[in-house]
Amino acid sequence: MPFGKVGPYTFSMQTETVIGLEIHVQLATRTKLFCGCSADYFGAPPNSHCCPVCLGMPGALPVLNERAVELALLAALALGCEIPPYSRFDRKQYFYPDLPKGYQISQYEAPIARGGHLDLELEREGKDGPTKRVRLRRLHLEEDAGKLLHDPATGRTLVDLNRCGVPLIEIVTEPDIGSPEEAAQFLKQLRQILRYLGVSNCDMEKGELRCDANISLSISGKPGTKTEIKNLNSFKAVEEALRAEAERQRALLERGERVVQQTFGWNPDKGRVEPQRTKEEAEDYRYFPDPDLVPLVVDEGWRQKLKAQLPELPHEKRARWKREYGLPDYDIRVLTEERTIAEYFEKVVALYPKPKDVSNWMMTELLRLLGEEAQTEPEPGLRLPPEHFAEVLKMVEAGTINRNTGKDVLEETYRTGKSPRQIVEERGLAQITDEAELARLADEVIAEQPEAVANFRSGNEKTLGFLVGQLMAKTRGRADPKLAARVLRERLSQ
Ligand SMILES: [Zn+2]
Repeated sequence: MPFGKVGPYTFSMQTETVIGLEIHVQLATRTKLFCGCSADYFGAPPNSHCCPVCLGMPGALPVLNERAVELALLAALALGCEIPPYSRFDRKQYFYPDLPKGYQISQYEAPIARGGHLDLELEREGKDGPTKRVRLRRLHLEEDAGKLLHDPATGRTLVDLNRCGVPLIEIVTEPDIGSPEEAAQFLKQLRQILRYLGVSNCDMEKGELRCDANISLSISGKPGTKTEIKNLNSFKAVEEALRAEAERQRALLERGERVVQQTFGWNPDKGRVEPQRTKEEAEDYRYFPDPDLVPLVVDEGWRQKLKAQLPELPHEKRARWKREYGLPDYDIRVLTEERTIAEYFEKVVALYPKPKDVSNWMMTELLRLLGEEAQTEPEPGLRLPPEHFAEVLKMVEAGTINRNTGKDVLEETYRTGKSPRQIVEERGLAQITDEAELARLADEVIAEQPEAVANFRSGNEKTLGFLVGQLMAKTRGRADPKLAARVLRERLSQ
């Protein structure tokens, strides 16, 4: 990217943004990584989810949570990582009030997985564009620390240890990301994959997905000094913080100054990065193997068993839908966003094999209903079985009800759980297809609206719309509007 104008000079040096990410993801296990405490700590009273093991009391022994290992392995398999036959847990030692043990159990020298990649899908004006491969360096298991709560009113800091020992995976990328936008896109896609896998809910507001980013600007291909921004917990924060830091570095270089290696936090209110006290270097942590935990062995049988459990991944699903259903990129993107929605679509299409119709109804009507409920975990199948959804579409196609009635029936089915057929019967919503009946009602309208009728007969075509509206009202919306218009026109010309 060329430099802008600075003072009387114009720089023409070529810089390139180089970004790497470290992502922490909370695994969706019932219990913590090394004890039986519930990992569902969010919103619980402080210090109510703790035991001697996660508090590091003398003599307490950790026992590894098998489910956490399985979830880490599923993520590793989906991301194409290499899984070594054994890995190990190390103690990372540092002092901080949210870490009662005085060390964090992590994986340093022998992580559970190495390598792998994510093919970043770059969007071009709402259509699928090319992909860019972002390589992964490693993926490892570790436990989370507690939380400090600063109370500005009293000036005190309180400690909540409920999060101590909650299982995380840390995913480290190679510096293959070329812009703040790509970094945000990477996180979005990673989050989607992890949610498809059921590895994590990745609820960023709850801190279940957080990210540290490092960034440097290389000049004419020569690597620059990198800085780090800690604890970014939304896509917006990632993109904005990286953009601000790239600008700060660029301004330094333009002035002929050096970028100093440094750690920052992001202040979203002020829109700038702020220096943080630098933590210890790796050698200061004095990593050593945790003597309480045996090496973790992952044999071929276990690997194969988990591989067989991998669901169809988002990009695979999108490619298949394009092939099998021929839907537009936009529809595919919207409907594959969440696995539950995507699978719901597939079930409805199996019952009513017109994918584009199903897509239209789902994107407008179903997503609207789900949106109104403001569900974070949309499970349409619970309230509106795919069978009911398909039944509404079939009734519209058969002409039993018209489109608008179909929307109402869908909504009532969703709210009450009654079958669409039952609702149509109970409320007498079936369309009036009997032309004699429509003609009788049209004559009523003509008798009741002499002014509009005179208006129409004097050549004002627009009045017909009003009269059709009157007729539709008499049928309580149960007529096919086109048929109603034709019948009315016939009666008016007599
Ligand atoms: Zn515990």
